[in-house]
Amino acid sequence: MSDDFLPGLDVPKNAARLKSFRADYESRLAHTSWKVKQGHAKELANGLCWNCSNPTTAFEVHHRTYARLWHEREGDLVAVCADCHRNLDRDRVEKMERFLEECREANSIDSLCCKKYGDDPQHWPIDAEERAEEWIDDKRSQGEWE
Ligand SMILES: [Zn+2]
Repeated sequence: MSDDFLPGLDVPKNAARLKSFRADYESRLAHTSWKVKQGHAKELANGLCWNCSNPTTAFEVHHRTYARLWHEREGDLVAVCADCHRNLDRDRVEKMERFLEECREANSIDSLCCKKYGDDPQHWPIDAEERAEEWIDDKRSQGEWE
């Protein structure tokens, strides 16, 4: 399979876990319920790319978020033209890379809190560290890198 599988989602690094993650992904893509969701997104598009509004018949279905992967709500999936799909996915990968780079630079929860709440820990919310950790976990699990 190509490297563009779930682009912008922080998938497992461990080889065995990644293999089973991919197998699960493949089988879900093959499942009827996925085809129904894809079809629905394409119907809603009404012939126009969600991103550039150009008419197209060659729709691809893009995940705007992975927050509800395989349990998507309407609006999580949009039908786009192939060019926009590539661009949207590339943007997400770039955001992920920037974010992960920032995490590496931050090097600790404390420095992340400094970034989010300012340099003085006295002005941080009482649960700043928990919030920072949750924030990172959410980003990682949802593929949302804004
Ligand atoms: Zn487009």
